[in-house]
Amino acid sequence: RFISIEGGEAVGKSTQIRLLADWVRAQGREVTLTREPGGTESAEAIRKLLLEGGADRWNARSEALLFAAARADHVARLIRPAVDAGAWVISDRFLDSSRAYQGVAGGLGDEAILALHRFGSEGFLPCCTILLELPSEEAARRAMARDGANSDRIGGRDADYHARVVAAFHVFAEAEPDRFRIIDASGTSDQVHDRIVAALQPLMA
Ligand code: C5P
Repeated sequence: RFISIEGGEAVGKSTQIRLLADWVRAQGREVTLTREPGGTESAEAIRKLLLEGGADRWNARSEALLFAAARADHVARLIRPAVDAGAWVISDRFLDSSRAYQGVAGGLGDEAILALHRFGSEGFLPCCTILLELPSEEAARRAMARDGANSDRIGGRDADYHARVVAAFHVFAEAEPDRFRIIDASGTSDQVHDRIVAALQPLMA
């Protein structure tokens, strides 16, 4: 199975992914943990280009193409083979991040990102996408506690951009209720983990 975890900045994805992987392993399944952008050697090289370049290095189109290129490699070389071998693959971000960041907040439009994904990765989708949601004040507080004023690793994008990202994720989730599970990310990490487990339990059958 292939599961992606999505959300805006500082919603607690990394912690939840660690706890989720432990839980899946405890159910006796093999787990492959991965992340986007990145996951394979080539895609991690693209990640460096994206995250270390500074805000002005790429324009919206070149940025979207790099994310799609990284994802194409990630799907072909890591995700598909691991799923075919029977593992659970859990990815920290996937296509829906590109749809929300580059597509909606970045202004390219959802259809452009989906078209790149059809070409690059043959439209490959997670069976389940967990969307972690936090009230915006709580997200801002956590981001400040973790990273100071700069929680955006690409940088140069304002609060308005990030508000559009969060809103876009929500719209995607409502539009595809079979694929998405919307999880309230407030409270302790154990509380959030319990909500995720409750949402995924049916997949264990
Ligand atoms: O750790 P995290 O997943 O939040 O860091 C990845 C960084 O890359 C974030 O700053 C996020 O804003 C950015 N990103 C992006 N577009 C994507 C995926 C990630 O701008 N499609």
